[in-house]
Amino acid sequence: MKERSFRVYVEKDYLKFNAAHFIAYRGFREALHGHNYRVSVEVEGELGAQGYVLDFGIVKDVAKRVCNRLNEKTLIPMRSDCLTIREEGSQVVLNYEQDEFRFPKSDCLMLPIVHSSAEELAQFLAGEMRRELATEKVDGITAIEVGVAETPGQAAYCRETL
Ligand code: ZN
Repeated sequence: MKERSFRVYVEKDYLKFNAAHFIAYRGFREALHGHNYRVSVEVEGELGAQGYVLDFGIVKDVAKRVCNRLNEKTLIPMRSDCLTIREEGSQVVLNYEQDEFRFPKSDCLMLPIVHSSAEELAQFLAGEMRRELATEKVDGITAIEVGVAETPGQAAYCRETL
């Protein structure tokens, strides 16, 4: 029997977000810096009766919505094992060893990740895409893959089967 699978792939100029972050793990911390992140999305699924896996328009809308949540934010990895993170009134205070960062809470996006690496951001975005697509009531999706590029030609991917 022939094996056959279908997937749709979206990579657009507007699928991006600008964000500040630093990678930190025990014994190492990057300086605070930013990227113009680019996002790509691949959705694998069954070919529907209408001839497609799902409407490209839905993938684009959902991906754009998800990217917008991260745009112009400082990304805070809430599950970090080396940062102490607390809120003080309208501020977020991060401590790493003797260093302290303070940001207005409205400038921050608290993420359920350990590191704000492209890999973990891709994992977070894949989860967000999955949840958003569920609200769009699209059937027959078998996997989602999200790519996050910190710079052109340098991307990390996370693929989740559903
Ligand atoms: Zn970086």
